[in-house]
Order: sequence, then structure tokens, then C-alpha cells
Amino acid sequence: MTTIAELLREAEQRINCSDTTKLDAEILLCDVMQFNRSKIYAHPQQLIPDDKSVLFKSLIEQRRQGHPIAHLTGKKEFWSLELAVNEETLIPRPETECLVEAALLMIPDEESFNILDLGTGSGAIAIAIASERSNSTIVATDINPDALDMAKKNAASHALTNIKFLLSDWYKNIPSQSFDLIVSNPPYVKQDDKHLSQGDVRFEPELALVAGKDGMKAINIILENANGYLASDAFLLIEHGYDQKALVTHAFQIYGFKQIKTLQDLSGQDRVTYGQSSN
Ligand code: GLN
Repeated sequence: MTTIAELLREAEQRINCSDTTKLDAEILLCDVMQFNRSKIYAHPQQLIPDDKSVLFKSLIEQRRQGHPIAHLTGKKEFWSLELAVNEETLIPRPETECLVEAALLMIPDEESFNILDLGTGSGAIAIAIASERSNSTIVATDINPDALDMAKKNAASHALTNIKFLLSDWYKNIPSQSFDLIVSNPPYVKQDDKHLSQGDVRFEPELALVAGKDGMKAINIILENANGYLASDAFLLIEHGYDQKALVTHAFQIYGFKQIKTLQDLSGQDRVTYGQSSN
């Protein structure tokens, strides 16, 4: 048997792909042992059984090869909700909370909004909104049935019944109706972006990340068809890359939106643009 302190020391030396090696090792050990992080500080000399050490070391080896922490633990926190994740969807990111915040400001608590979340992936956005606005209903779509299964599982684990899941290539399978709000975190990375060969994104689905030469392919499809699904004066909110504000704003203008604005995420990067339908 080995102590917590020894296992962590060894692990930190092995992981060399991350600038958060200490934290990574601690999270993985806590995951294996079902410990709270305070436990490893309070009892560093506690012995860890051999079978758990072997499991921990195999996770450290995968982390060393670059696998995201969220894939190794199978979960990620978003909007203070624990979500299950796997290789089928993007790992929910803190910058997407900026879109949720903006959407919530547009949904009155007491009203029953009909909301559409295009390309829901793990369900992060739909689940965060549904958990905050129980009177509203959300239609959450994805083209990937495995992603949709994950999103359904996440909604069920938070006992949310106000989300309807629909397998759909953007708007294709959505029955005709008008929404009071449309939100989306679509793929928006350029196909030759150098970030695609760095860090966590190497292990995330290309389908959820990459959108043609300028990263605008999906955003254009969403904007081009949005007016057919928006109630009059309803808003559309889209997450995009830090350097896409001008392109996205221009696209909103082309498709006749008004009141177009861009919001920054917590790191001060342009991240979400919205506009109001002129229906
Ligand atoms: N924010 C992600 C990244 O930069 C991309 C997410 C997306 O394409 N929707 O890695």
C-alpha cells in the first residue's frame, strides 16, 4: 500500500502535459477514492489500497497522454450542476455560462417561454436554463443520437421534465412552431485552427467543434433559417469564437436582425452575439 502523499508526488512528476498537474492529480485521486479534496490535505499519510493505486496510476498515464480530466472522471460541472460527459459531446466550458446568463435575463421567471437549443451536445445550456425557469419549455436538438442520449441522461439526473429532445440536423426535424428564444453553442472553430492540435480539443468530437474554413458554416445555417422559427421580436443568442464578433454581427445584419449586441465572457473575450427578430 502507498500513502496519499506518495501517490500524489509520483503522479505530479509523471503528468507533464498540463499546467495544473497538482490539481489534476488531486482530482483524479479524489475521483478514484470518492474523497472530498479536504481529505487529502487532512490525511496525507493515509494508505491507499493497491487496487485503487493501480486504477489511479492508469488514469494518470492517460492524463499524461493528454486525455481531458472530464473524460477521465466522466463528469464536468456547469452552472453548478454536475453533468456526465463522454467523447460524443463537447466538454461544457465556463465561457458558455455567459450565454446562459444572457438568456436568463431574457426569460421572465413567471412566463412560459418556448425555447429552442440547437446542437445541445451534453445538454448543458438546455439543462441550466430549464433548472432556472421551470415554467418554460425547451426543445433541445442534436444531430448525434449518442450526444442526445447523454443530454437526456443529464436532464433525468437533475429531474428536469421541461426539456424535449429531438434528433435533428439544425432545423430539419423541428415541427413548425414559433419560439420565444433560440440559443446555440454551435461548432465555430476554423478547420485549420492550430488549437485543434492542442489540449483537450484533440479528444473532443470534430462535429461539435469545426465549422468550415472561417468557422461560420453552422452559424450561417442557424441565422439563415432562424426567422422561420422565431416569434415576433424574439431573440436569438449564439456563442462564437473570440475573434468572430465582426463576422457574426454582419451575418445577423444580413438576415435582418435588429438590436444586435455582443457580450464578453469572464475572461473579457467577445463570446456571445444576440439579435432580435424583425418578424
Ligand atoms: N470554445 C471551444 C474552443 O474554443 C469551441 C466550442 C465550439 O466550437 N462551440 O475550444
